[in-house]
Amino acid sequence: MLSTMQDVPLLISRILTHGSTVHGSSRVITWTGEGEPHRRTFAEIGARSARLAHALRDELGVEGDERVATLMWNNSEHVEAYFAIPSMGAVLHTLNLRLPAEQLVWIVNHAADRVLLVNGSLIPLLAPLLPQLPTVEHIVVAGPGDRAPLAGATARVHEYEELLDGRPDSYDWPELDERRAAAMCYTSGTTGDPKGVIYSHRSIYLHSMQVNMAESMSLTDSDTTLVVVPQFHVNAWGLPHATFMSGVNMLMPDRFLQPAPLAEMIASERPTHAAAVPTIWQGLLAELRAKPRDVSSLGQVTIGGSACPPSLMEAFDELGMRVCHAWGMTETSPLGTVARPPAHAIGTDEEFGYRVTQGRFPAGVEARLTGPGGERLPWDGESAGELEVRGPWIAGAYYNGPDAEPLRPADKFSEDGWLKTGDVGIISPEGFLTLTDRAKDVIKSGGEWISSVDLENALMSHPDVAEAAVVAVPDDKWGERPLATVVLKEGAQVGFEALRAFLSEEAGVARWQLPERWTIVETVPKTSVGKFDKKKIREAHRLGKLDVTKLA
Ligand code: AMP
Repeated sequence: MLSTMQDVPLLISRILTHGSTVHGSSRVITWTGEGEPHRRTFAEIGARSARLAHALRDELGVEGDERVATLMWNNSEHVEAYFAIPSMGAVLHTLNLRLPAEQLVWIVNHAADRVLLVNGSLIPLLAPLLPQLPTVEHIVVAGPGDRAPLAGATARVHEYEELLDGRPDSYDWPELDERRAAAMCYTSGTTGDPKGVIYSHRSIYLHSMQVNMAESMSLTDSDTTLVVVPQFHVNAWGLPHATFMSGVNMLMPDRFLQPAPLAEMIASERPTHAAAVPTIWQGLLAELRAKPRDVSSLGQVTIGGSACPPSLMEAFDELGMRVCHAWGMTETSPLGTVARPPAHAIGTDEEFGYRVTQGRFPAGVEARLTGPGGERLPWDGESAGELEVRGPWIAGAYYNGPDAEPLRPADKFSEDGWLKTGDVGIISPEGFLTLTDRAKDVIKSGGEWISSVDLENALMSHPDVAEAAVVAVPDDKWGERPLATVVLKEGAQVGFEALRAFLSEEAGVARWQLPERWTIVETVPKTSVGKFDKKKIREAHRLGKLDVTKLA
């Protein structure tokens, strides 16, 4: 028997129309570095998105599912692109501006981007690459910055505001198939070629509803969210779409991502929520300690992208900013799990233990653990295996060009279609996930696994340690052993023996897991999205570039 319900496609244009009418007075506030921030209502964004779509179609000839790329910071023009491009049926391709040049070139060519929207401040990054980008026919420049380096470009150069000028404020958005491509994002993988994930209108719509659930970010129109996580990093964790669904104001930092301006914008615009990776919060914490500001508005902070050290969570708690830990990946749109403690733990000694997990699976994400021999492992809070997931906003393949079959590499997708996350962890009977490592970062010592993340968290809870990354290095006797690379806080003098004693006596690390090899570094190298780049550390060690002390 068929249902008797209407079948209305879940489209980005519907999110835009809803946000710009029902929540027309909500705002996108863009930080400008000096003077007043720039403010635009959702109603204005709706009208300007329509104008942008007209310009792309009538002036630049964008048709069908052509790719329109963005090389932009988080700002209101980028939000307009987020809505205009998919709503008209084209595909939004957000480019990670922190990628090495050769990867950016590879990605633009692979996606065959025909139009590229760029912020003026990023022209110096784009201009030298243009000779290698034959598919790009139009460049549209938004915001301040010297245009001169684009003078010799073969692609036509347009001004964003001039392009929008005088065009109609509404657009007859097409009634698309909800399974069609809406946006694409390449993984920031540190090995091999980047892999393209293509989100559908349907997957983004459903994911946005999940972001808004009380169990997830729980935001309403009385909130303002500070979107630090870049719009090129998995759709800024779904926030631009989710906010238009429920009228949440967005505070956009544009290119002002350093700790001092972030602290300033929190103090003056008083956001109630913020989202970013741990390294951003580490920087902000140091800034606030050096120069306190009023950050009391920020009641909730979503941290994900890499493991949130418990010490960071405690420090934020003390400042009145409650951290909510979440896990996800480019392939999962990204919302996978969110660590909200269950009712029975709230207000008890168990609460913190739940908050430091990666969190609980929502109804839309099914999870299972697979052991080294391919066996299914129970959710018993003890058995560690690779996490596999499936659901309506989880990737089932990678993009392989317009005419090719999508890629389903065996190390990424199981035979029955689940995504193999490459993350190793345990799941409690209540469905809380605790990640112990990336499969490729786990330290295999004498047939036993040592979690690099556990050692890092323990080290970062030492008062003299600013940051710590632990990697596996070859060892004649054990196969692999941990190497601890440590960044000390300014002026700190603590020695390796003392740190090792701290791990064992204070942090409860088992003796056989204690690192013998130690080195002090100035900073931990980071990937393009601000995660510890352990590949670079392993490489530096292999090339003998680290000054390693081996304790007896
Ligand atoms: P990306 O696709 O760049 O967002 O990277 C996804 C990967 O980041 C995941 O597979 C995890 O390894 C890691 N990750 C994301 N969130 C967390 C978290 N809360 N704790 C630990 N690792 C995380």
